[in-house]
Amino acid sequence: MRAHTKASASCGTCTGLVEKLMQLSLGDSYNPTAVQPMCSCTELGHDEVRRLIKAKGLKTIPAVMQELEWKTSCGCAKCRPALNYYLVADWPDEYADDYQSRFINERVHANIQKDGTYSVVPRMWGGVTSSKELRAIADVVDKFAIPTVKVTGGQRIDMLGIRKEDLPAVWADLGQAGFVSGHAYAKGLRTVKTCVGSDWCRFGTQDSTGLGVRIEKFMWGSWTPAKVKMAVSGCPRNCAEATCKDVGVICVDSGFEIHFAGAAGLDIKGTEVLGLVKTEDEALEVIVALTQMYREQARYLERIYKWAKRIGYDEVRRQVLDDVERRKAYYDRFVYSQQFAQVDPWSERVSGKDKHEFQPMAALSFQQAAE
Ligand code: SF4
Repeated sequence: MRAHTKASASCGTCTGLVEKLMQLSLGDSYNPTAVQPMCSCTELGHDEVRRLIKAKGLKTIPAVMQELEWKTSCGCAKCRPALNYYLVADWPDEYADDYQSRFINERVHANIQKDGTYSVVPRMWGGVTSSKELRAIADVVDKFAIPTVKVTGGQRIDMLGIRKEDLPAVWADLGQAGFVSGHAYAKGLRTVKTCVGSDWCRFGTQDSTGLGVRIEKFMWGSWTPAKVKMAVSGCPRNCAEATCKDVGVICVDSGFEIHFAGAAGLDIKGTEVLGLVKTEDEALEVIVALTQMYREQARYLERIYKWAKRIGYDEVRRQVLDDVERRKAYYDRFVYSQQFAQVDPWSERVSGKDKHEFQPMAALSFQQAAE
């Protein structure tokens, strides 16, 4: 049906509807649980490929394709980014990230816009900023004549309309002011939104801002199957909107209520409660373990709310809350992988990495173009 009508081929919102139509037309002969191949390059589904990468110790994209008998020589735009992610997640210390297998935004570390320019979002830990940071951003906006500056839903500042060839110079100036990439383009940790919490608010039960900053500083740079957005609210009034995030925390007098599997995009879904923990340290450990479980088990491009529904909310609770040893093991694996992941991609590019990516292919005059 996808091949002939394109239904369910893009954002996936209509997939349920398409499945119902298939069921109606085909009756019992339709089997929705049959394994969906990753793409037309293989008969294997995502779960089987992930399992075999581990079981056979496959550590490069060509090795996966050869050993698992890919039907094409180089894969396609569907399987290459997925394989690249699985290898990054499974072999953090051995696999060399293949940037050519990433989508444009992750390759260029900025978000491409409809006119071919880019937007740049520096990281603002927990959404907190200062006069020094704001001045530095204002200077960059003036120097590069950036046409639009916009505050994002994740409490960050977005600079829109930057030419690709200017990106390294913009990042160099931002880096001087202490900024790193906000990963606003990444299948990875995006933002941890916070409210002002007990520092300023009369209703605040805990230091929600401090916890949000701590989570973000601990987890930034990690690659995940799809984007991950988090939030911490200082009381059940929930000003940081934690109950529609991939992972959210509601602070209460007795500790930290951890939520997961929310959505507020193509789908709208309130979070599930994972459980209540007493301390910030426990909250961080549970959130990290949940994220690592998701990193290890989800299919590429599957958001937390879809993955958790598929494997069962209780299974997630069992593995990251009840089973303390397993939680610790997930936590340790995440911490290990972070030593290879927490590298600012902007400063790498300012130092000359992937220089060719930011150089114009040719400078054409209007007359040349007309000829
Ligand atoms: S969520 Fe609660 S603590 Fe945070 S700003 Fe709102 S009312 Fe205050």
